[in-house]
Amino acid sequence: ENYQVVLAENRKLFNEVQELKGNIRVYCRIRPFHPGQREKQSIVEHIGESDLHVANPSKQGKDALKSFKFNKIFGPASTQVEVYSDIQPFIRSVLDGYNVCIFAYGQTGSGKTYTMSGPTGATGEDIGVNYRALNDLFSISTNRTNSIEYVIGVQMPKGLAVPDATMYPVKSPSDVIMLMDIGLKNRAISATAMNERSSRSHSVVSIQVQGKDLSSGSTMFGNLHLVDLAGSERVDRSEVTGDRLKEAQHINKSLSALGDVIFALSQKSSHVPYRNSKLTQLLQTSLGGQAKTLMFVQINSDTNSFSESLSTLKFAERVSGIELGVARSSK
Ligand code: ADP
Repeated sequence: ENYQVVLAENRKLFNEVQELKGNIRVYCRIRPFHPGQREKQSIVEHIGESDLHVANPSKQGKDALKSFKFNKIFGPASTQVEVYSDIQPFIRSVLDGYNVCIFAYGQTGSGKTYTMSGPTGATGEDIGVNYRALNDLFSISTNRTNSIEYVIGVQMPKGLAVPDATMYPVKSPSDVIMLMDIGLKNRAISATAMNERSSRSHSVVSIQVQGKDLSSGSTMFGNLHLVDLAGSERVDRSEVTGDRLKEAQHINKSLSALGDVIFALSQKSSHVPYRNSKLTQLLQTSLGGQAKTLMFVQINSDTNSFSESLSTLKFAERVSGIELGVARSSK
């Protein structure tokens, strides 16, 4: 009822959580084997709440094991509901005037789209982060109608080619879903040797929220970026040449630029190299400062995927700024 009080409380709680955890959270999600996939040995030896042991299938004994530490690990049996419950408080904070970016990173076929959008035609429990986040944005803003007037808009850059993409005002999750479906259809899709659904472009949905406090007249702005990154697999594995090769190299460059930015932020570095890619330029105002960055690092756990999964985990370890060795020796 008294919105200012609720807002102050939310903010206090949110800041407390953030002080403990920093502005960057990295989650690892392990894709389950497909039902039809022959029972294979998993490279994942141990899954803790926040630590993960991965075994190199071509090595033996202690040398084969590598440990990683993230804010949280979601194992192969984790549900969409569990995944979303961890990030729900961040979605709420967008309506309180914070900027939040959610990324899914990983090789093609590791479950990025599953986490963000859900499986094709998802309903009910299967629904992914994007739709859950939108539902919450609209339902919380509706609950606050008596104290705050919200205007919510969506921007859909296609393949990041358009810096000032059109802003569409939206009134319900279905408005946004419709826009997202159009966006997905327009996404540059090309078949590669790995997976014919492989998409070699980033998909970015930007949601802008403006709230006007009806009693004081003051306004606040928050935004939410939902980013399904292009596959992180190395070029040679996709067996591409010519234009496809250039495109793949470009993608890899933008992913490493993103890694450099998040790493600089995690180190509270005075220089953050935003200008090295279109992706990081686009997200500049939404990364760093008071903004919250969440990254889902998706891995496959079959032995064939070992080297890709290892490079994904190393990327994630670097951006999270949490290095197991350092964390152990300092405590
Ligand atoms: P990516 O976006 O990384 O290329 P997808 O999200 O398309 O990968 O996932 C590849 C396949 O695995 C899809 O058929 C997807 O439905 C399935 N999949 C991914 N993650 C899960 C999961 N957690 N549970 C069940 N199926 C999953």
